Amino acid sequence: MPVDKELADIKLKEDLKRVCNLAYQKGLLSGNEGNLSLKISDNLILVTPRNSHKGTIETGDFVTIDINGTVISNGNRIPTTELALHLEAYKKRPDIKAVVHAHPPIAVSFSVAGLDLNLPAIPEIIVLLGEVPTVPYGEPGTDKLAELAGIYLEKHDAVILAHHGAVTVGTDIFNAYCKMESLEHAAKIMHSAQALGDIKTLEQADISDLIKQRHKTYGKEVELREGSRLFQAHQNTFKLKNVFKKLAESNSPVFQRILNLVNELLLVTISKTTFAQKLTTEEKEQLARELTTSFLSMILGKFTKK
Ligand SMILES: [Zn+2]
Repeated sequence: MPVDKELADIKLKEDLKRVCNLAYQKGLLSGNEGNLSLKISDNLILVTPRNSHKGTIETGDFVTIDINGTVISNGNRIPTTELALHLEAYKKRPDIKAVVHAHPPIAVSFSVAGLDLNLPAIPEIIVLLGEVPTVPYGEPGTDKLAELAGIYLEKHDAVILAHHGAVTVGTDIFNAYCKMESLEHAAKIMHSAQALGDIKTLEQADISDLIKQRHKTYGKEVELREGSRLFQAHQNTFKLKNVFKKLAESNSPVFQRILNLVNELLLVTISKTTFAQKLTTEEKEQLARELTTSFLSMILGKFTKK
């Protein structure tokens, strides 16, 4: 191998190690989770091995494989269980040189809670990532998941894997990694905003300007999948909880009467069950209060749906 190429490969191994360490330090993966890869030539890929801790990984741990997944060197380590996912990403995207798969906790929480991260509320995310679709659930480590993710990665640089993690791709390993970090950062902002009150989306005109900026900066269109909510401003996704909160805080006599009535009704119903015989009076009352909130939220949900 020419000396230049050898030095370039050493540098790429060091870059991969650096990004593995960063992802661990940033809490984007934990334990032996996550897997990362980069292309060292048109046909060769450097990938993290199975069961490797990304906080302590060394350059000698990485496995070199070819584009079909055959191990070329460091055969004493087995490639990651998500190898198919990486291969599929490179197959679908000849323009990329790196893939990061992590388990960013807040971003994944949105999919576990069945919420959409794609509200147009943070300008940088619209410019940097466009839409971030959620890939329907597929069992981790399977070809089915790789295939599903591949469909979405064809047009998106960042995707959420439902109930599991996220995948970002890029022109080099730092580029792919930054997208993962930004995705989780955006999720944190959305999560905090939701806890404080309503999520206020940007105005339609501002969103259009950001789409133009994405095109100008990255030469990319914002690809929208069917049913995408990204550019429908003012969604109800996060508002249900707040409607209930506002009604409860409003001291509206009518709402209080309904609340008491439902509560009483549920308390009587609970008391008649055999399950309730084991509960104390306070526990029954607490259960009735919780059920009242859920019940009325459900009714309000039906009522406020467009
Ligand atoms: Zn995973």
